[in-house]
Amino acid sequence: MKEALFLEPVFKEMIWGGTRLREDFHYEIPGEQTGECWAVSAHANGDCKVKGGSFAGEHLSTLWKEHRELFGGAEGEVFPLLIKIIDAKADLSIQVHPDDEYAKVHENGSLGKTECWYILDCDPDAKIVIGHHAQSKEELKQMIADKRWNDLIRVLPIKKGDFFQIEPGTVHAIKAGTLILETQQNSDITYRLYDYDRLSNGKPRELHLEKSIDVIGCPHQDVVTDRAVEQKAGAAVEKLVSCKYYSVEKLEVVGACSFELKEKFRIFSVVEGSGVLDGTELKKGDHFILPAGYGTYELAGDMVLISSYPQE
Ligand code: ZN
Repeated sequence: MKEALFLEPVFKEMIWGGTRLREDFHYEIPGEQTGECWAVSAHANGDCKVKGGSFAGEHLSTLWKEHRELFGGAEGEVFPLLIKIIDAKADLSIQVHPDDEYAKVHENGSLGKTECWYILDCDPDAKIVIGHHAQSKEELKQMIADKRWNDLIRVLPIKKGDFFQIEPGTVHAIKAGTLILETQQNSDITYRLYDYDRLSNGKPRELHLEKSIDVIGCPHQDVVTDRAVEQKAGAAVEKLVSCKYYSVEKLEVVGACSFELKEKFRIFSVVEGSGVLDGTELKKGDHFILPAGYGTYELAGDMVLISSYPQE
């Protein structure tokens, strides 16, 4: 089908959210603490609708169920990926996700979660939590029992354009003043390790210490991704990561560039600038899927896109 599927985002109010999804992306957000834009999602907690064209008003989950031909007959009960833009005005709690195996046993057959972050923008002194300093499970347990959070948690400085792959078992958190695009497995299983002893409605939010200790990898191992850039006429294509679940690329379009859809389908998010997809105007904040059989496509203009597809 030669028709891109443009999606309508779903927004989530969060205690740590802000207003940058309106200020930077011109979305109509529901309130002054909007933390998440679920941009490409077929998850029951936020199922995006198609914006126009032949499938206008249909949910992405419905297309996945009833029109699998759009996705080249890709397998799986649920649409495999979930793309979010996250506006962290305050620190998020420190978390860890299980892998598929652990989630299957302990979370009623649910999928685990691998995710990755592209830093769209951040404050000059912004930081992020990735990993921890315990050398063994024993040390991890002891540091948690002693509440030595500052010694345990590994905090790194970040800048716009940085990219992080978060494997299951990795301690992680987004900190205040950060705007990111997240590409993840379609799963919502999160274990909260530490919440800075904050209160929400007078009570601390629930922690999941035992499950966290179960799944945290010791010692922490960084994932180093090889960010290779391919320079084409009119565009630079940078491979950000290719893992068991997805591949993610950054496309910087300056001029016009032709591509061939080689995957079963491909997801795009315009994160900077504006341009055109085969005659259809694109602007920052647009998210779309090119369905199976789309063939050749041209991206033109002056824009940056993050693009992904599931691993087959
Ligand atoms: Zn996470």
